[in-house]
Order: sequence, then C-alpha cells, then structure tokens
Amino acid sequence: MLRLQVQTNDHFDAVDITRQVREAVGKLGISSGLLHVHCPHTTGSIVVNESADPDVVRDILEAWARLVPRDGGYRHAEGNSQAHILSSLAGCGVTLPVEEGKPALGTWQGIFFLELDGPRRREVWVTCVSSE
Ligand code: ZN
Repeated sequence: MLRLQVQTNDHFDAVDITRQVREAVGKLGISSGLLHVHCPHTTGSIVVNESADPDVVRDILEAWARLVPRDGGYRHAEGNSQAHILSSLAGCGVTLPVEEGKPALGTWQGIFFLELDGPRRREVWVTCVSSE
C-alpha cells in the first residue's frame, strides 16, 4: 500500500488525484489486476467523475451542499455533521481495474479526493492486487 499526501485549500474542495494514483500504481508494479483508492478520513470522499471540465466536480459539491445543508440541526457537537453525512453517502473509496500498468478509466473520467470539511492535509491510501 502507498500513502499519498493531499492538501486541500477550501471548506469544500475537489482535488484531481488521477496522476498521483497513476504514479502509485506504477510504483506498486502491477500490470493487470485491481486498484483500490481509500480515503481514511470521516469527512472526505473518493469519487470518479469527469475531469475534463472542472466545473463538473464544483457542481457536484454545490449540489451536495443543497442536499445536506451545513446547519441542519444535527446532534454531533463538533459541528461538522454535514461533512460526515456526505462522506457516508459518497463513500470512502473506489475500486478500479488496472490494465497495462495504469488505472483503467473512461475517456472523461478522473479520480478525485473530495474535501468536505477543509482545508486540511489529507492522506489517500492506494492498494493494488495483481491478477497475473
Ligand atoms: Zn465530526
């Protein structure tokens, strides 16, 4: 497993980590198999979505903020329940195929760390399983 460092810069932020994940798969040295990208935080998420137009992930985050308001009368004393709820809905990881030593992504797909309670310094854990 490799641990990637991700710096987020806003309360809500989307960081395209596709290149870092591709480099991690190269270091882990498998050419065919499965890749898992895990967010070990309770107020962040990993998603795969369009990377060609950065407005897409911004729209996703803005829509999420409307779906789960920041001030929703929650019980959690830390005051960041919105982030915990969104992290639970979106999930903390994705599994992708690895082909020819690279994550197999669609033409428009990228891998994103979504910050839901930043800015913070975050980690993303990358694991690969070879099918050879
Ligand atoms: Zn909390």
